[in-house]
Amino acid sequence: MVELLFEYQLKRSARRKTVAIKVHQRSITVYAPHYVPKKQLDLWLVEKRDWVNSQLDKQINIADSKQYPLETHKILIFSNLIDITFEHALHSQVIEHENTLSVLCSSRVSHKKLKYKTLLEAYLTEKLGLYIDMRLAHFCKLMDEPLPNDLRIRIYKRKWGSCNSKRELTFNLLLIGAKKSIIDYVIVHELAHLRHLDHSRVFWQRVAKFYPDHKTASDWLKNNGQSLQWEF
Ligand SMILES: [Zn+2]
Repeated sequence: MVELLFEYQLKRSARRKTVAIKVHQRSITVYAPHYVPKKQLDLWLVEKRDWVNSQLDKQINIADSKQYPLETHKILIFSNLIDITFEHALHSQVIEHENTLSVLCSSRVSHKKLKYKTLLEAYLTEKLGLYIDMRLAHFCKLMDEPLPNDLRIRIYKRKWGSCNSKRELTFNLLLIGAKKSIIDYVIVHELAHLRHLDHSRVFWQRVAKFYPDHKTASDWLKNNGQSLQWEF
């Protein structure tokens, strides 16, 4: 008995002189002239199984890479909605186009989902870090505050920024989705904490001096912060 490895759709035509296989959307179609017996086609397909398998694998990979890691395929960067594509390539890297981000993962990487996540997070961390660095310099000068000793960017569930007595500041990576004016508010808020490690009246006075509309910004974060989340 011939072991048939694939289910396929058979399309016969009177005009056709040769046999052909097409693999599309993970299904196989065999085109054949009327006179070639089904059994012979099955045998021929078994001979071609390596090629058919490689085509199926390729399509499975493309389908999988489109499915994850982001469920939405869209992400906010400084409040612009950006399309993200996940693809296999020779080298892992992230390429930025005008309104699209291509996250490319090397075909040699075995845990692609994790790699996509790491690549995307590293890219966003750098982008947010560059912006915050620049604004820290600006606001430190304005507030007559020495630069902090360290700047870190992490994903937090419940806070946008934090600081400690060692003058180390941390910002939530999810802020990358917000408008720059909102990020500025979080920067001023954390810088004000360097003198007042609480939410006292003097603390808020200091925030208000350098970011007068702080109430609007903090309300926006309370009401819309959830929209900055993304799902991996
Ligand atoms: Zn605070």
